Order: sequence, then structure tokens, then C-alpha cells
Amino acid sequence: MTAPMLRELSCADDYDPDSLSVDAARAAIRRFLQPVTTVERVHIRAALDRVLAADIQSPLDVPGHDNSAMDGWAVRFADVDAVRPTTLRRIGESFAGKPYPGTVGAGEAVRIFTGAVMPHGSDTVVMQERATATAEGVTVAPNAVNRAGQNRRIAGEDVKRGAIVFRAGQRVRPAELGMLASIGVGECTVYRKLRVAFFSTGDELRSIGQPLAAGEIYDSNRYTLYGMLMRLNCDVVDMGVVPDVPEALERALASASATADVVITSGGVSVGEADYVRDLLAKLGEVLFWKIAMKPGRPLAYGKIGGAHFFGLPGNPVSVMMTFYEFVRDALLVLQGRRDVPPLPTLKATLATPIRKMPGRTEFQRGILTADGDGWAVRTTGEQGSGVLSSMSQANCFIVLPTDAGDLDAGTAVDVQVLEGLV
Ligand code: AMP
Ligand code: MG
Repeated sequence: MTAPMLRELSCADDYDPDSLSVDAARAAIRRFLQPVTTVERVHIRAALDRVLAADIQSPLDVPGHDNSAMDGWAVRFADVDAVRPTTLRRIGESFAGKPYPGTVGAGEAVRIFTGAVMPHGSDTVVMQERATATAEGVTVAPNAVNRAGQNRRIAGEDVKRGAIVFRAGQRVRPAELGMLASIGVGECTVYRKLRVAFFSTGDELRSIGQPLAAGEIYDSNRYTLYGMLMRLNCDVVDMGVVPDVPEALERALASASATADVVITSGGVSVGEADYVRDLLAKLGEVLFWKIAMKPGRPLAYGKIGGAHFFGLPGNPVSVMMTFYEFVRDALLVLQGRRDVPPLPTLKATLATPIRKMPGRTEFQRGILTADGDGWAVRTTGEQGSGVLSSMSQANCFIVLPTDAGDLDAGTAVDVQVLEGLV
């Protein structure tokens, strides 16, 4: 089942694994993504950051009754004189949750509070600042209201009974939680969480707590990946560091793909190393090695091992984050059941400093975006090496420099992807 699909990709006419554009790679991956189908019924609190698996229809009008938008006086608009003060007789009160049971007749008013049901007969609310209470009633200032229905909220103006409030495929955010509660819905159906297994490859890698011998480094990729996957609300399986030993890699890949929906590795896909990984992956599944026309993050492997999607990310720490933002994130959202995966939000900013760039590939420089008058200014974080992870920590955006662009002067308008909220 999976093998023919990937062969189809290898043969697709616009597909060139040696210089694939970022958009083409993202689109190519999308064609192979089958969202999860298993669903769970959960309390709405547990639905936060999950994806709805069924439409939500409102059983109620919200608000349920016409009610007051102000503290004031419920009146008949026709009674209020436009040029002279109007004195009305107070016949009662309407509190939020405790409506006035009677009817407002000619020359009458009901003291009313925000959220209280509009009494029968009244159509308009005079805000209390435009009225003076008297012994028997209230005197309303001329022109205190200028149309019937003023300061009155209409039943169903937020949500109509029977309306589809949310669609399957939508992520539940705090606003959706509140909306669900407002229509009295306490449980909803969501897709199951994605299970994502990941490990780092490299003989030089040590885990926190281990001493470093000459030439060894701490494995940071597993931590950035952990953070990004948790932000996307995945179930994560951290499989640790796997040395560059074919048998160890084979065991790790086999066990990861047997239990996870998605397997992510870092390292081992660059020229030289890729060769034996390539053989191994050809044996276990079908994986394509791509040289994406981008910097950083050039080598990337994508394919299927058994039923699992496989992403072989480059080893350099910045490249791991880059490729995650540009490819993995998008794929995970689709697999989670999202039907509203938008392109990464991009805005225009003015370069505060010049940038050097060679034409030929899309560059994602780490940038610092700041408000500048009516618009945005952006500067790079400085050293842009793909091993300089502090650039990711300083950055709040990627400055996206298109394939054909060369050096850019300060003052040039550039595209910027804002990172906050992306994962
Ligand atoms: P590779 O893609 O395996 O050739 O690795 C490229 C660079 O990234 C090398 O300098 C590696 O030492 C470094 N690297 C690979 N994996 C990790 C990791 N998990 N944490 C930090 N650096 C890494
Ligand atoms: Mg390596």
C-alpha cells in the first residue's frame, strides 16, 4: 500500500529530489498524509488543544432571551420625548437571573441591570447615566435614546439554536472552550492524540548527566523536538541517543515505527552518512532523500516505515528546528485531523541592517522583529551558522529570503514568519 504511493511521488513530474523547493516538498508530503480516524469522547477541559472529530450544533440560543446591555431603565421607546425630559413611573426591577414578571405599559419603566431579561412591553434601555431616579419613578433626559432597541441584546445574537458552532477538524482553543460551555455542552468528540517517537543519531552525542570526552557534545535536538511536539499536543516517546551503528539504528527504527504514528530522527542524513542510512531505510520501508533548496535544513528524508511516517531531519540544531517548522509541523497538524491548516503567517517588515545572500535557495535567517512606527522592522540575530542554536533562542521570527534574492540593502521590505504561536 505505501510503497506504490511513494513511487508515484518519485515519478511526479515536478519532483526533483536534488533541488526541491520548500513549497513543493511540503505539498509532496501532504499527499501522503492520512489523518487519524480514532476518536475519543472527552470532557471539554480535556479537549483543549485537541481537534474536534464531529461538528458541534448548538442546542440553545445564546443569549436565551433579549436582555439589557446596560444598567439602566427598560422603557418603551415611543414614550421617550426627544426634546423634553420624560417622567416615567417605576413599576419594578429586572435583575440578571431574576426577571420582572409583568408588562411595561405606556408611561412606565422597569429598573434593569446588565444581562437581565427585557420585560414584556419594553423595547429599549435608557442607560442609568441618562436618567434620574425620583420618588415614584425616573426622569429620562431628552434624546437619552435615539432608536427603538437601543442597549438591548437580542436572543440568539451570539449563537442561534441549531446552528453549527464548530466544524470537525477545528482545534479547540480557550475561546472554543468558553463557547462550548456557553451552549451547555460538557463533552465533545476529538481525534486521538498522535503518537510521535523520536531519537537522535550520532556517536558524538551524550545525554545530560554524562561527562563529555574530547569531541563529544550534549544532545540538544531531543529537547527542542520534545518541546515542539509537546506544544503541538502529541504523545511523545523519547527513545534517546542511538549510535551510528547500523544494527542499533535498525532496532530503533523498527521498534519506533511499530508503535508510533510518526518517527522523527535527527542526524545521519547528510552526504556521506546518508548512504548506509539510505540502505537501511530502503530495507525497512520506503524513504526518499531530498536536498531541499533551502538554508539551513538542506538534507531531509521523508517516507514511510510500515504504517509510520518518517522524518529524517538534519543533525544541526538550527536545521532541526527549521525543518520542523517548515515541514513537520504542517504534517503533524494534518495527521491530527486539522482541516484548517493555514500557510505559515507571513508579514512584511523593513530590514534594519543589510543581509548577504547567494541566489539559488530559500534562506530562513533568524530575525528579531520589532514594531517600527506604523510597521515592522527586522534585523538578524547575527551569526547564522546552522549549529548556532542561540540564534533560535534570540529569534522571534524567520526572515524568509526567496530563492532568487541576492544581497539585500537595509530598508528592503522582506517577508517574515512570526514564530510565536506556531508551535
Ligand atoms: P549530522 O547531520 O549527523 O552530520 O550532524 C550535523 C551536525 O549536527 C554535527 O555537528 C553534529 O554533531 C550535530 N548534531 C547532530 N545531532 C545532534 C544533536 N542531537 N544535538 C546537537 N547536535 C547534534
Ligand atoms: Mg551524525
